[in-house]
This record gives sequence, C-alpha cells and structure tokens, in this order.
Amino acid sequence: MQLSNLSIRKKLIGLVTILVLGIIATSCLAYYFSYQDTTNSKREKIRSVVEASISQILALQKLDIPDLEYQQRLKNLIYNTRYSDNDYLYLIDKAPRVILHPIKPELEGQLVTDIEGIEKPELIIQGFRDAFQAGSMFWSIMWPKPSGGPAKEKLTYAQVIPGTEMMLSTGIYVDDLNPLYFQRALSYTIITITVIIAAIIGAIVISRNIVRPIINLSSQMAGLSKGEIEQEFLFAQRQDEIGKMARSLERFRNHLIENNRLRHMQEHVKFLESFDPVTRLYNRQAMGEAIEREIIRNHENQDPVYFLFIRFDLLRNLTIELGEEQRDQILIEIANRLRSIMSVNHRLGRLSEGCFGLLLLNSPVDKNIETLATQILATIEQPIQLDTVQVQVGARIGITSFPDDGDQQFELMGRAEIAAKTARKMEQGWLHYSSIREQQSEQKMVIWQDISAAMDQDQFYLVFQPLFDLESNAPLSSEVLLRWEHPDRGFISPAVFVPLAEQSGLISRLDNWVLNAVAKQCRSWLDQNLTFPKVAINLSGISFLRPDFEDKLQEIFSSHNVDLNHIELELTEGVLIEDLSRIQEKLTRVRNTGVSISIDDFGTGYSSLSRIKNLPVDHIKIDKSFIDDLASSPQDLKIVQAIILMAQGLQLKVVAEGVETEQQLSILRKEHCDIVQGYLLSRPLSVADYETLIDEDLVIEGE
Ligand code: C2E
Ligand code: CA
Ligand code: CA
Repeated sequence: MQLSNLSIRKKLIGLVTILVLGIIATSCLAYYFSYQDTTNSKREKIRSVVEASISQILALQKLDIPDLEYQQRLKNLIYNTRYSDNDYLYLIDKAPRVILHPIKPELEGQLVTDIEGIEKPELIIQGFRDAFQAGSMFWSIMWPKPSGGPAKEKLTYAQVIPGTEMMLSTGIYVDDLNPLYFQRALSYTIITITVIIAAIIGAIVISRNIVRPIINLSSQMAGLSKGEIEQEFLFAQRQDEIGKMARSLERFRNHLIENNRLRHMQEHVKFLESFDPVTRLYNRQAMGEAIEREIIRNHENQDPVYFLFIRFDLLRNLTIELGEEQRDQILIEIANRLRSIMSVNHRLGRLSEGCFGLLLLNSPVDKNIETLATQILATIEQPIQLDTVQVQVGARIGITSFPDDGDQQFELMGRAEIAAKTARKMEQGWLHYSSIREQQSEQKMVIWQDISAAMDQDQFYLVFQPLFDLESNAPLSSEVLLRWEHPDRGFISPAVFVPLAEQSGLISRLDNWVLNAVAKQCRSWLDQNLTFPKVAINLSGISFLRPDFEDKLQEIFSSHNVDLNHIELELTEGVLIEDLSRIQEKLTRVRNTGVSISIDDFGTGYSSLSRIKNLPVDHIKIDKSFIDDLASSPQDLKIVQAIILMAQGLQLKVVAEGVETEQQLSILRKEHCDIVQGYLLSRPLSVADYETLIDEDLVIEGE
C-alpha cells in the first residue's frame, strides 16, 4: 500500500487518527509524569519535615536542660508537628517500639506489631530495621488510619536521629493523594478531549474546505474526460488555489463544449455529405467511395467485389399517386427491413429516388449472391402498411462484380443499373450484368464485322423524310435516314447500329459513306434536272469534330460536282458542350463551305439557347419527346413555346420533329413553329417515292 495511492479522505482520516492517538499518548505521559512528580514532592515534603524536626530535636539535646523538661519538650515537639489530618510524626526505636505517638499515646512503649489493625507486621518490622541500618528509608506498609477503619497502604518514612537509637517516622496514606490525582487526571482528560475535539473540528473544516472540493473537482474532471460536460464547476468563485483549479477546469469545459459543438456540426455536415437524409443510408457518392475503397483493397488479390443495384418498380407512379411524404415512408420502411437482414459485411445505400445499392465487403460465392438477391426481393415485396393504404413494391436487382464487370466504381454501379433495367425488361427478379455483357459483346462483334461488310456490299441505302414549311406548306428540305437490310437479321434500326458504330470507331467511315451516297444522289437528281429541296444529313459529333472534316466534305461533294448549298448538317447537342470558342471556329469553317447547320434533338442535352446564341447555326430541331405529349402536358407545351419564342428572337428557324397527330400540328401552327417533320406529314420515303413527291410539288393542307 503506497501513500500516494490512498485517497485524500483516507489520508485525512489517517492524519486525524494519528493526531488523536498522539494527543492521548501525550496526555497519558504528562499525567504519568505529573503523578510521579506529585509523589516525589510529597516525599520531599515528608523528608524535609522530618529533617527539620530532627534538627530541632538535636538542638533540644544540646540545650542544658533537665531530663524531664527535655522529655516534655520532645513530646511537645512530636505531638505538635502535624502538617495535615493524617500526617504526623512519631518516635520509634530500632526494636521497633513506639516511643512517642501523638495520635495514639496508648501505644507508647508497645511494639509496633502490637498495634491493632496493622497488616503484614513482618514488613513493618523489617522496614524499620532496614531504615535504622540505612539511616533513612521510604517503604510501604499497611497501617490503620487515625480515624479508624481497616489498614490502608501508607508510604512510611523513617530517619535515625543522629547520636541516638531512635528514629523519627512519618508517612502518608496513599489514598489521601487520590483526590489530588483524580483532579489532575480530570483536568488532563478535559484538556485531551478538548484538544481532540479541536483536532476533529479542524479536520472537518479542512475536509469541507479543501478535501471535499478537491474530491468534487476530481470527480467532475473524471466526468469531463468521459465527455460529461453538462454540469457547471462549483467553487469557481473561490479566491484560493481550488478556485483557480475550478476556473481552469471551467475554461477547459467551455473549450470542450465549443469543440463538441464544432464536432457535432462537422459530423452533421459529414452525415449530409455521405448519407441520404430520408433513409439514413449511404448516398450515391458515399456508396461510390465505398466501392472504390473495396476495389483498391481487393486489387492485388483480384478477389471479387459484388455490387447489387436494387431498382424499385413503379415507384414514380406511387409517388404521383400518394405524394412524396408517403413515398419516403415506403422507402424508410424498406430500408429498415433490409437493414434487419444485412450483416456487418453489407453496405446499403440509396442511389437515387427509387434505387438502392448494396455493396458486399467480403467476397461471397455466386450462389450466395443469388440467394441474397432472392431474399432481398422477398423482403421488399412484403406489403407495407401506410396511414391509410397498404402498398406493395416490387423491385429488380442488377448484379455486377469486380474485376469481371469493371474496375471503376461508376462501371460497377452503372452496369448494375443496366442489369436491373434489363431484368425488368426480361421480367426477371435479378440479373448478372455478365450475362447481358456476353450477349451484347457477341452482338457487337457481329455487327462490327457486318457494318464493314455492309458498306462494301451496299447493304445500306438512304430514305428521305421531308420537312414542311408551315408558312408555304411545301417541303423545305428532307432528312436523310440510313437504312440497313441485313442479309440474315433483316432490318436493323439506325438507333441500334449508329451507336455501335460510334463505339467501335466505324462511325466516320459510315458518315463518309452517307455523305458519298448523298452526293451521288444529288448528282443523279441534278442530272435529271430535278429541283430538289435541301438534304439534311445526320452527322455524328465524332466525324464533325475531326480537323479535316470540312476538307473531306468539300472533297466528296466536289468530286460529284455538287454544290454544298444543297446540304444541311444535323448535329446533336452533344457537340456543343465542347469549348465555346473552338466550336464557334469549327462551325464557322464548316458553314463557310456552304452547308447550313441544324441542331438536332434540342432540349435533351446540356446546351441552352443562350449558348446557341453565339453559334453560327440555322435551325434547331425540338426533340421528339417534347412533341409527343404536347397536347396533354402543359409543361411540355411551355417548353416548346419558350424554345420557339427565344429561337425566333435569335433569328433561328425552329423544326418540330415527330409530329404524329393533327392536334400536335395545330398547336405547333398556333405557336408559330416554322417547320414540321413527322409521320403525320410523311414517313421516310424511298428515293423513288421521294422523287415523285418533289416532282408533284406536293403541299400539306394549310389552315
Ligand atoms: P434523328 O436524327 O432524331 O432522326 C429522326 C428519327 O425519328 C428517325 O428515325 C425518323 O424515322 C423518326 N421519325 C420521324 N418522324 C417520326 C414520327 O412522326 N414518329 C416517330 N415515332 N418517329 C419519327 P430513324 O430513322 O430510326 O433514325 C434514328 C436515329 O438514327 C436518328 O435520329 C439519327 O440520330 C440516327 N441516324 C439515322 N440516319 C443516320 C445517318 O445517316 N447518319 C448518322 N450519323 N446517324 C443517323
Ligand atoms: Ca436527325
Ligand atoms: Ca432528332
């Protein structure tokens, strides 16, 4: 047990105990010494009385007086020397026989042992004999008191009177000293108790004033270190060291509170950065980061990392029907259910409005993934009870894994999403991306080989879809659309093979093929003396952005001796996201060849009219998706109205594509759209049909 390990309270108790014991011991010692002192001083007194009396006796002997008188005066001397009730002198010889005794004269002449009431006479006799031998002596005897009663202990003193065989003796009864001792003991006890009480009071005061505050502060400090910052520090008002300590701690606590506040804020910000506020699951960004970390962790061993994209069916419809609040309730319920079946190796996130994602940290085997996917679907599909209605939500799961399906987080997420969408199309619950990928890459390979062959073997041909001017109601231009009649697969849509050609690097060859074919066609019409409207060619951004594109364009058309005034190029908005000054230059250079420029699929991409304002373009084609719902969607109508208004402000002509109904057409007329294109007016036509159309100067019905 080390002193430094003891609590201050125990130390104080120890100190007080030592102090009290010390006081008691000191008092006892003091009492003992004072007892000794009293006894000694009593002895001294006896001895001095006896000596004084002996010197008086000796003086008496020297006097030349008759014997009788001497006897009388000796007797007087002995009889009168009484210094207190029980203290008297008596004369005794060495026999020992009493010679003179002032209290009991009847004893005179008798042996001491004849005295009635004495005890242990042999001690008395021996004592007197020893005293006679020694000249003087103190010793204890048992002797009755003059007042009677039994023998009491008496401290006896006897001293020989020089030149005689007599001794002068006296003594004190020990119990005569008791009141004196008692009084002493009493005062010592009172003093002791007083000092002890003072010590205890002192200890209590110290405890209250120092120890307790220190204990208090230390327990508050311990609390602080555990993060308990609510309580205020007492004693801060004090001016002593404890006050200083309390104030320092108070400052420390304020510091902690401030720190805590900042930390909470940071945590909250961090939370918002990484979590979806509704479901409290990871958000898309945090999920992406988690996938990235997992990929890095498994990079060396190439252990698989699985990712599941969970896409809810028809959640958008539910949102429209029930409102966002109820939709959130549904998502929270699903999140909670999924949490309950997740393990520590699962990271669940909400990736978008109706999509969750699940990352599996420790590579399980394929079979387990499929079991898990099935379990997740079953969990989601349990009916959900909302306040007023019960709903049931279905879902599809797309599965990807590193490294098979990609080694970037966006690849794993994006491809899993594709797999989930495909699963829905295929009416399956879950689907591995790898199974689509295999199909796709097979398809791609075939198509890639086939596109090359198709160009050589003239499997491609052009169709022409006229665009009508709504002012004159006459065809203003026609859009060239590419057609592919595959010998085995039959008709393949450009919507399918154009993107594949773009991905596989064949697009420029394909675009050149179209440019050539158009130039050839124009030459043929020119040779036939047919006046034909402008021909609009769809051009991929990849081809357009090639530095030698304008040269190539001129080369192709001049080789057929066709003026580029006949040609319009349709570029998609994607081209416009390039650096503005670069694209401006490029467009100017291309336009200087004589072609006009049209921006296709306007409204679907990133460009805005304000961006187009600074570009040398002639037409914009409002994307078909805005025309589709024109009659039913006020929002689409608003967009179309806005595009038309602003485009006309910029002196641009507006084309509406995909016009299929009279209703759409009449709205477009009312909104002063310039040009229309669509199945209502004309489907894409074969060259022969198109030639008939332009030959007949066909016009559409006007208002
Ligand atoms: P796009 O440039 O937006 O072409 C318009 C598409 O809408 C054409 O489909 C056309 O047939 C179709 N269309 C026109 N009016 C209507 C209508 O009233 N209703 C409906 N439902 N559709 C209508 P297509 O020919 O299948 O072309 C699809 C896409 O393929 C084109 O979209 C274009 O991006 C691309 N494409 C077509 N030909 C070529 C080409 O020669 N070269 C390049 N690079 N791309 C081409
Ligand atoms: Ca087009
Ligand atoms: Ca279009």
